[in-house]
Amino acid sequence: MNHSPKNSPVVLLTGASRGIGAGAARALAARGAKLALLARSEEALKALAGELPTEVLLGALDVTDQEATARFVRQALERFGRLDALVNNAGILGPTGPTAETDLAEWRRAVEVNLLAPLTLTRCALGALRESRGRVIQVSTGAAVQPLPHFGAYCATKAGLTQLARVLALEEPAVTTLCFSPGVVDTGMQEKIRREAAPRMPEPWGRFFLDLPRQGGLQSPESAGLTLAWLALEAPREWSGQMVDGADEKLRRQAEAWACG
Ligand code: NAP
Repeated sequence: MNHSPKNSPVVLLTGASRGIGAGAARALAARGAKLALLARSEEALKALAGELPTEVLLGALDVTDQEATARFVRQALERFGRLDALVNNAGILGPTGPTAETDLAEWRRAVEVNLLAPLTLTRCALGALRESRGRVIQVSTGAAVQPLPHFGAYCATKAGLTQLARVLALEEPAVTTLCFSPGVVDTGMQEKIRREAAPRMPEPWGRFFLDLPRQGGLQSPESAGLTLAWLALEAPREWSGQMVDGADEKLRRQAEAWACG
């Protein structure tokens, strides 16, 4: 769908400073969406905004700061007058290692970033999203369903986020809520896995992550971001409550065709 600037869709996207989020921001801007972009790294956000051919509101803040995120949602609504999609993409790996040994404070932080922050933002945005019959995309992972040793905090918090999306889909019929599992994507998060987690993981999991670059198993952040952008603006209503797999070739081709359209 093409939009004139006046009725351009508005998307609030977290974790926009790099990786999949930056890819999604570029794809959304190219399709004419106005953007409210949130992450902690102000310089990276400013640099990204400078290259985007659209109206952008920046929020250099931590998603776990409830007051600041609520204020940011209000600012976006004041500035743009509507909200069509909320994309909860910001996420962290959390503590990795044997669950019996991982640090509880780091677990709490993972729960705050990966579960409570998307919950808070979703609640702040729901009124506007009901009005626009908009979408919430919770960026999850295959690890929400597939257990991985040494990834207890990541698996558990993303599983919680995935169930939250399913519950919201039942409770909020006016809003399309779904989860996106991007697949394995060539970002800082995968680098961190190879550097810190994989060398200590039991086999075959450690080798799986370490071999991904050599085997060409990593998707680009632009490709994953494009699929995410398509979901934010185009996901069919009947997909509400589903986990959408970013590695699905058909879905990727659909997003690519949309980007060219
Ligand atoms: P990334 O390159 O590490 O980027 C993470 C983004 O989240 C950054 O923009 C970061 O910005 C932001 N962020 C992290 N903590 C934040 C906080 N407390 N407050 C505000 N922003 C915060 O990761 P990615 O690979 O693009 O991951 C994006 C999403 O995809 C995550 O939810 C991840 O779990 C999911 N995912 C990734 C993969 C993969 O293979 N890469 C696979 C499955 C799922 P600042 O540091 O500037 O705050």
